[in-house]
Amino acid sequence: MNLDDFPRVSLAHLPTPLEPMARLSAGLASAELNPPRLFVKRDDCTGLALGGNKTRKLEFLMAEALEAGATCVITAGGLQSNHVRQTAAAAAKLGLAAHLVLTSNVAWNKDDYDRSGNILLDRLLGAEISILPGGSDRAAAMDELAASLRAAGARPYDIPLGGSNATGALGYALCAGELLTQAETLCGGLDAVVLASSSGGTQAGLIAGLAALGHPARVIGVEVDGNREGVAAAVREVAAAVAERLGLDASEIVARVEVVAGYGGPGYGLPTPEMRRAVELAARREGLLLDPVYSGKAMAGLIGLIAEGRFEARDRVVFLHSGGTPALFAYRSVFEGPGA
Ligand SMILES: *Cc1c(COP(=O)(O)O)cnc(C)c1O
Repeated sequence: MNLDDFPRVSLAHLPTPLEPMARLSAGLASAELNPPRLFVKRDDCTGLALGGNKTRKLEFLMAEALEAGATCVITAGGLQSNHVRQTAAAAAKLGLAAHLVLTSNVAWNKDDYDRSGNILLDRLLGAEISILPGGSDRAAAMDELAASLRAAGARPYDIPLGGSNATGALGYALCAGELLTQAETLCGGLDAVVLASSSGGTQAGLIAGLAALGHPARVIGVEVDGNREGVAAAVREVAAAVAERLGLDASEIVARVEVVAGYGGPGYGLPTPEMRRAVELAARREGLLLDPVYSGKAMAGLIGLIAEGRFEARDRVVFLHSGGTPALFAYRSVFEGPGA
């Protein structure tokens, strides 16, 4: 596998830090949970407009857009999409227009959700925003927008939901080597990575990257949509696509996809008490700001897996902090009032 063969633009501050979570581990140990050795990979610190996992994907996606001679990019997501915010920032930095198709699909605390957090930043970053009612057909809206942009002489490049296709996943295939090098130095190796999964590209890319390096570490996706089959199918689909792109055995990569359910609650973007407790725990024991939609649910999943005894005390387990912190401000009311 030679990732240098694929076009890439530099957008992220790399490598992101890998840090121990000593006080979180001690807290779990004092609750008699028998934690493994816990570390956090700080992909909330990728640097582009408050960072997050989409920056690594966009290094490959935006390079492809530029190679195709695009004058603008189109992407879609919810009003609080981190992917959309990072795409708007990448486009601004590279001098492309960004057209965002946003759906108002999460019924949560109207005012903050509709105006603060990521949507506030999308506007600040100068993106063209269309907001559709929940349940609208995003793909159709993107096609229509692309057609009208083309008719006006522009050359749009489509970026899928979450940047999750074979191209975007290359960002996390590349991350696998970065993480292994750091884990080797910090703790002598890596046994498992736990992360939030939704559109699947992050998990799929990491699995492909580890497999390409012949490394057996498990990559456990905590699905955050309340839809195990949907998320697992998405991860498998991107895993097969990125395997093919890298010339790897797709069935071997797909067989490594491991998705844990039970932490997504009633659905995408909807808060759960376990998420609130996990976000508060990480903040108060590590000074680490997780987010309510992805990393908070993923941390709840990690704690749940530890409580189930799924790790040995000697295992080196890395929690991938995938970003999303700006969404905290859209969920103000969840974190006000007495602690969970
Ligand atoms: C998009 C996102 C994820 C999920 O990554 P996928 O590649 O879509 O599975 C996790 N965390 C944050 C903060 C995100 O924005």
